[in-house]
Amino acid sequence: MIAGAHISSAGGLGNVPGRMRAIGADAAQVFIQSARTWKPTSHRAEDLAALRAARETGEVAYLVCHAIYFINLATDDPALLEKSRAALANTIDVANAIAADGVVLHVGSHKGRGLDATLPQVSRELKRALKRLDGPWLLLENSAGAGGTIGRDPVELAAIIDAVDDPRLGLCIDTCHAWVSGVDVTDPAELDRLVAEIDGRVGIERLRCLHVNDAQAACGSNRDRHANVGAGEMGAGLDVCLSHPALADLPMLLETPGHDGHGPDAEEIAALRAMHKRGVSRRAARARRAR
Ligand SMILES: [Zn+2]
Repeated sequence: MIAGAHISSAGGLGNVPGRMRAIGADAAQVFIQSARTWKPTSHRAEDLAALRAARETGEVAYLVCHAIYFINLATDDPALLEKSRAALANTIDVANAIAADGVVLHVGSHKGRGLDATLPQVSRELKRALKRLDGPWLLLENSAGAGGTIGRDPVELAAIIDAVDDPRLGLCIDTCHAWVSGVDVTDPAELDRLVAEIDGRVGIERLRCLHVNDAQAACGSNRDRHANVGAGEMGAGLDVCLSHPALADLPMLLETPGHDGHGPDAEEIAALRAMHKRGVSRRAARARRAR
């Protein structure tokens, strides 16, 4: 399996491979600027080159850049749209420079106007972004479903993917977001339905990676609070999700608080690997019994 995590790029992106080694991660997700400000970070050429080299040698098995949360491609405020466009373009430039596999993006919020009203604009902005991407995929992440956030379910995400119609527009599914938006992904039948819906609407090959997070809040609560693997409301049932045949081989990236609150640590990576292994062996044993 490819077990990864959100890794801090404090002090420079060149620090990422060392931080991954320290916790035993194979893959990384990075912010390329502070996630809570518009101000872009200027990266040193040697940092970009170091991370690119680590990705190209395979030392980093999978690498994505997560765009900042302020971006709203569905806004009706021209100034906010302009800033969103610039921030996304900046993220894409860095993703190109470090040979990332993808850019993970939350589309934004339609603020009650409905997806249909904003779809032409969202589609235009995504096409523009895809033109700038030189290799990596653009991955839309499912939302936790609060307010007017776009992408609460595969239907909304599929509507966007259909409108844009580009082979490099894909999906990143976050287990916590799916859970709080009302899909019990610890239930095999419900998970099968979600996978079948993604496959039927956009093709499962567009699903490129998973954000693996347990949830502090109940299924359907729309409250986006990540918990450590196995320590939240999903608990041991999260292994159902990790071992699904359509999902088990995808790169898995933790965005959990970790044990000191500073993000995924070695214990979390170990817990992810153990849970994945447990789920896969249980599934194999069930298949053997069924034969
Ligand atoms: Zn996520």
